Amino acid sequence: MHRFNRRDFLKSAGAIAAFAAIPKAVSAAVTGARVVVVGGGFGGATVAKYLRMWGGNVQVTLVDPNPNHISCILSNLVVTGALSMSRITLGYDTLRTTHGVSFLQGKAVGIDPAGNRLTVQTSSGNRVLDYDHLVLSPGVDFSPAPGNWNPNLTPHAWQAGAQTTLLKNQLAAMRSNDTFVMTVPKAPYRCPPGPYERACVVADYLRVKGRTGAKVIVLDANSDIQAEPEAFNHAFTVTHAGRIQYVRNATVLSVDSATRSISTTAMNITNAKVLNYIPNQRAGGIAASLGVNPAGFVPVNALSYGTAAFPNIHVIGDSCAVPASDGKAVPKSGHMANAQAKVCADAILRTLSGEALDTNVATGSACYSPVTGRTASWLSANFIYGDIYDVNGAVKGKGMHRVDLGEAPSNGVNGDSYQDMFTWADSIFADSFK
Ligand SMILES: Cc1cc2nc3c(=O)[nH]c(=O)nc-3n(C[C@H](O)[C@H](O)[C@H](O)COP(=O)(O)OP(=O)(O)OC[C@H]3O[C@@H](n4cnc5c(N)ncnc54)[C@H](O)[C@@H]3O)c2cc1C
Repeated sequence: MHRFNRRDFLKSAGAIAAFAAIPKAVSAAVTGARVVVVGGGFGGATVAKYLRMWGGNVQVTLVDPNPNHISCILSNLVVTGALSMSRITLGYDTLRTTHGVSFLQGKAVGIDPAGNRLTVQTSSGNRVLDYDHLVLSPGVDFSPAPGNWNPNLTPHAWQAGAQTTLLKNQLAAMRSNDTFVMTVPKAPYRCPPGPYERACVVADYLRVKGRTGAKVIVLDANSDIQAEPEAFNHAFTVTHAGRIQYVRNATVLSVDSATRSISTTAMNITNAKVLNYIPNQRAGGIAASLGVNPAGFVPVNALSYGTAAFPNIHVIGDSCAVPASDGKAVPKSGHMANAQAKVCADAILRTLSGEALDTNVATGSACYSPVTGRTASWLSANFIYGDIYDVNGAVKGKGMHRVDLGEAPSNGVNGDSYQDMFTWADSIFADSFK
């Protein structure tokens, strides 16, 4: 039997082809149908593109407040100055010109599910869009911070753009013996390895710049490292020994941006040189308005990404909650958003054509984490649709099963993975936006 390995994963554009549902020819049946997509990030751009590619004459309107999407993927390397902002800036031109997606710059502010209408705030006033199907992929919003948090003083840089530049400038201003303090939000949050990756590349930057005695303190709200624990434990205690202090069970009690101080259940810090407070996360507001689970995300059907109350309103990407077999959340990643977008596009086209949903679906995700300026680790998570069980082993419904493809996580931290990271990222960028 052929084992699916990392090279196959890269060759298939980061598992994009391997995990995408392949729809039947449905174009004739869906002529004139209107789909509105909210959010032009990894989930939204992909679903808009594939609805047009697979859907013939289906009309697709993509709504986003920004003229470009700035990718969180690779953004930690913009913080350290290894990459430029233009490297992670992804435009909508190809979606418009090659794929025929209409782009409306604006913010979705209200859904009328009974009337199948979406209200969008634009620079020239509110516009109302009628839809047959609505797809929401607005990413994450932040939970309120305790205390006095001002992201313009102490950035999160967990949505890329101006926040990334601000954190980059603050890091560049650090001198010897200064302290960079960062928090890891309570899971589930966007990109499980992302905060640990940031700690590593910041520590590496301080080493390379000769900032003697400068260090990174990681205040983790969780009881342990949330992804690739072996790789990051090694990075914290060996590769970056003395430059990273990892603190578990550090629930944030109060943040004061003016003094760059933070109080947690494990440690209090005053006057950090840089305070990178990454708040707890929940579904983007427009998706959350449909109703959320206790963790703050919108439950969806894993075959269509439709909501229970409104099957023609779909939520994909970081905002959705997909039932999974092992009790762990399906990871919130750009790669996963891309995979969910294809399942969703296929489901919409089948529904418009009067066909049953495909039950043979799979999704997958990879995250590459740079650990130094030349090395990275690699993690994959893969899922297939099927029964899911409660703690007693009884079937409690349908959802996604985690499957082991034999190479997750990566076998350590190395230079090959660092190079592969760019191949993988460019594949995801192109598959979503080109
Ligand atoms: C530092 C970091 C590193 C990461 N590295 C990786 C990685 O290596 N691999 C990986 O797979 N993932 C990675 N991720 C995670 C990845 O960026 C997210 O999971 C992914 O962007 C989620 O896609 P999405 O479509 O749900 O949201 P997004 O890509 O964030 O897109 C949401 C879009 O919705 C728009 N929007 C929000 N509200 C509205 C509204 N009301 N109306 C209209 N538009 C709206 C926003 O402007 C935005 O463009 C990383 C994240 C971070 C922070």
